[in-house]
Order: sequence, then structure tokens, then C-alpha cells
Amino acid sequence: MTEKIDVKSLTLEELKEELLSRGEKSFRAAQMYGWMHGKQARSFEEMTDLSKEFREKCGEWYTYTALSPVRVQESRIDGTKKFLFDLGDGNVVESVWMKYKYGNSVCISSQAGCRMGCSFCASGIGGLERNLTPSEMLDQIYAITRLTGERVSNVVVMGTGEPLDNYDNLLVFLKLLTDENGLHISQRNVTVSTCGLVPQMRRLAGEKLQITLALSLHAATDEKRRSLMPVAKRCSIEELMDACAFYFQETGRRITFEYSLMRGVNDSLKDAQDLGRLAGRLRCHVNLIPVNPIKERSYVQSDRDSILAFKNALEKNKINVTIRREMGRDIDGACGQLRRRHMEGGQYAEGIFHN
Ligand code: SAH
Repeated sequence: MTEKIDVKSLTLEELKEELLSRGEKSFRAAQMYGWMHGKQARSFEEMTDLSKEFREKCGEWYTYTALSPVRVQESRIDGTKKFLFDLGDGNVVESVWMKYKYGNSVCISSQAGCRMGCSFCASGIGGLERNLTPSEMLDQIYAITRLTGERVSNVVVMGTGEPLDNYDNLLVFLKLLTDENGLHISQRNVTVSTCGLVPQMRRLAGEKLQITLALSLHAATDEKRRSLMPVAKRCSIEELMDACAFYFQETGRRITFEYSLMRGVNDSLKDAQDLGRLAGRLRCHVNLIPVNPIKERSYVQSDRDSILAFKNALEKNKINVTIRREMGRDIDGACGQLRRRHMEGGQYAEGIFHN
């Protein structure tokens, strides 16, 4: 038996071809696409203006991704919600919903697990299980829109996984997400975060999208970066800076550097000066993130004064800096923590629980 096609991962053009090859009329494609991505139907049964016979055939030909949460946690501090979704094959992924003044932002996962192994991150501890399909990335947003009843305006691919390690699926996802017949989220409101896979960063630049590329830097010298992130052994900071400059050249989009501050590890004034020298060479923005301590590692947050001193040192060098507001501290807010708790058998953090 041939494997069923994941129909929600097809672009409109692919869906047209697919239906034509099955002897169906091509206008069915636009109808189905509208149900899947415009109205975000949860099943073929909901597509009521398609004949029952056609819907049944769809059920035989295709799989239909519609994620359900196994757990929802809501922060008592800021209303941030964290969703743990069941992928139906024993894997779960987490997504975070955050309310900001400018709109609602969703942080999605791109892989079940991760093979990058950054030392401070909970997502990589169990390694990579598998890539998410485009529809699985997309449906995290569709499901959250339905569950919260609110429109999502911004999407950040900063949950579990390395998006550029799942490049082809990521690109289809971005196409579907920003498509005018779907959620139609502006490319400018989408951020993809990478630990720094240079060839894929360059390839992404060539796609000439208007999305923001965020680079997880976390250290400003190769030696220090290599001690925190195994991926840094594959390429130098110099190569990363070149790739970032190329991204800006091709897209006109300013790069975001993410820098998680860890006490005594990367938060000294010398670190700030080194970072300032790098950032000063590019059109960029630096986002300082107080590290979110995970129980498997001993990293500690820098104290408030060191964080402010670090920020000041960068600003003296005319670098654009923000300190990321911590959202959902009480609900396992850090990457991959909720998923890990689930896999360990469910000692969850505080917060309000729904099921
Ligand atoms: N793999 C991608 C995207 C996922 S991680 C990347 O590396 O960018 C999203 C961001 O959270 C990255 O900057 C990552 O380094 C950071 N991060 C991971 N664990 C963290 C923690 N415990 N505290 C603070 N930031 C963390």
C-alpha cells in the first residue's frame, strides 16, 4: 500500500495537481484549500459543501492533521499559555501563546526533539525524534487560534527543534502560513530562529522572504561558543557574521542576535565588549534573554545589575538592545521543559492546568 498523503501540507498548486491526477476537478482544490487553511476545518466531515462521496474518498487518500492538546498550562503571572500537542505517533510537542500589547504571538516547535545539543537547553536532552511536517507546524497555530478564540498576529519558530535542520518542511510551512488564502500572516511578523547552520542560512537568504532571521549567538568568541553549543564546532563566528551580512544584503531584513545571559559564563563586561564589536559590524538587534534555568543543568540567571550593565555596555557602542521580558516563568516556560516533564511522567510546574 502506498503511504497516504498529508493533504494539509500541500500548497494550492500541489493540491490541484494531486486532485487532477485522481481524476477530480481542479476547482475542488481551491474549495478544499479554503476549508483547510481559511476556515481551519478539523476534518473532512466539516467540509460540508463537498459531496459526502468526495469526502469519503479524501479519507481514503489522505491523512488530515488536526492536533489536540494533551495539556494546557496558563501562567498566573501574565496569562501566557503553554500547549502540549499530541502528534498521534507517541510524540508530543509544545507551543506557547503570549499576549503582547501589539498582538498575540505564538511560539511553535519545528521538530520533536532536537539534535543540536546546546548545553543550556532542555529540548536537546533526548536527541531528535523526528521532523515535524508543514501541517504539524501550521496546526499548532490553527489549534491555538481555535482554543483561545483570538487571532494570532506574530509567529516565532523558537520552540523545540532547529528549524533550519528541517528546511524543506519549514519553507512549505512559511508559504502556507503567509498565504492570502490561509491565515495570511505577514512575513514581517514571522521570526525563524537558528543555532547557526551556515549553508541553510545562506539558502534562506536566497529565498528573499521578508521574515526575520534570529541567530542564537550566546557567546562572542569561538572558544566560548563551542563550550556552550556543539554546532559552533562546525563553523566559526566569522562565517556566521558573513552569512548574516548576506541575509541582510539579500532581504534588507535586520538580523536579531539572541544572547542568553548565564551568570559567570557569558555575562561579563568583556563579553559585552566582544559582542558589541561583532554586532557593530551589522544591521542588527540584540535580544538579551535571562537564561531560563533547567533542572538538568546548573546554569543560573545573571543578576539584574549585571544584565543592565551588559545592556549599557552594548548601548554605548550604539547597538540596539532589548531585554526579553520573561513570560510564563511559572509554567515551564523554557524551551522543551514541558515536553520533558511529560516524557518523564508528569511532574509539572505551577500555574493553572486544563486538560
Ligand atoms: N534551534 C533554534 C530555535 C529554538 S531555541 C535556535 O537555536 O535558535 C530558541 C531560543 O531559545 C534559542 O536562542 C535558544 O538558544 C534559546 N534557549 C534554549 N534554552 C534556553 C534556556 N534554558 N534559557 C534561555 N534561552 C534558551
